[in-house]
Amino acid sequence: MYAFQKLPQLVDKRGKLVHNGWYSKRKNGVNSITTRVWHHSLTKLSAGGSKIESFADFHVRTNGWPEIAYHLIIDPKHVVNGKATIYYCVDISKKSYHVGNSNNIGLGICVIGDYRTDKLTDPTVHSIVDLHNALVADGIGKYDKAHNEMPGYSWKSCCVFDYNKAFKDVLDDMLPGSKQPDPVPGLYTIQEGDTFWSIALKDGKEGITVEDLIAANPGVDPSKLKVGQTIKFGAAQNSYTPKPETTKKDQSEYKYPLPSGVFKSGSANKAAVKQIQDALNAVNFKCGTADGIYGAKTKDAVTRFQKVYLPYGVDGVYGKDTKIKLQAALKSKDY
Ligand SMILES: [Zn+2]
Repeated sequence: MYAFQKLPQLVDKRGKLVHNGWYSKRKNGVNSITTRVWHHSLTKLSAGGSKIESFADFHVRTNGWPEIAYHLIIDPKHVVNGKATIYYCVDISKKSYHVGNSNNIGLGICVIGDYRTDKLTDPTVHSIVDLHNALVADGIGKYDKAHNEMPGYSWKSCCVFDYNKAFKDVLDDMLPGSKQPDPVPGLYTIQEGDTFWSIALKDGKEGITVEDLIAANPGVDPSKLKVGQTIKFGAAQNSYTPKPETTKKDQSEYKYPLPSGVFKSGSANKAAVKQIQDALNAVNFKCGTADGIYGAKTKDAVTRFQKVYLPYGVDGVYGKDTKIKLQAALKSKDY
């Protein structure tokens, strides 16, 4: 297995995308590759179709090619642990269609985005560099070229972004005495549109979870953030370290056991609702006195909790997903 295949942000999509037949093998297999050819997708990052499934569909259904054009695709919209996801789409031993007469010698690497206007994000640069270093270590290709540096393509606005600079930025970082990464600031000022969720995922602040932010800001209601408000940040970093899953405790062994099932406004099971209320209060989503009545205050607290932890499932109803997230929040507070 190649080093690039072991990158943690790589997702193997070979054979899993729309295709109509398959590309043929390169003449001398992987040894044919001399050049790593860098592309961008020319689709704006903000566009809905800016994703590998749409590219595969376009290349196969519209262009009539057997498979998606690129061997590897970096997707700035899917960031995991501070790095953009790299999709491995076409086996590198195959001659895919991305650079005309040079297909036999070219490895097609595409970064999603239209870099005439989009900007490379930090997680994207990290993945460009990781992939580049791994391919070099694997001996796959000798040169790097932009699409428009390949014979016959000088007219093409591809890849536009400065791939050499991306490699170099990180080389500079690796030189002794070079600048250290910026320290995480102690305080963070809320910007328009921020949620604890979006802040936790922001570039350069890897390792900060929603749980960290809540733990570091006990007085802050995450559902009522105001532009310009400052929240604590530095202390939050890495304060939450997920512990290895030990044997599952029975709910009754927890300080705040949680009921299973669905509970919503008017639910009659007072004991269960009280458990939910105690747990919400413990993680600072205050719902007033735990009286066992699923009323407006409880519904509001559940809603606020969901806005932070389940932004795509906000309904004020306690169910399975809310239970799981509430357990995680309790756990991060060592309950
Ligand atoms: Zn291109």
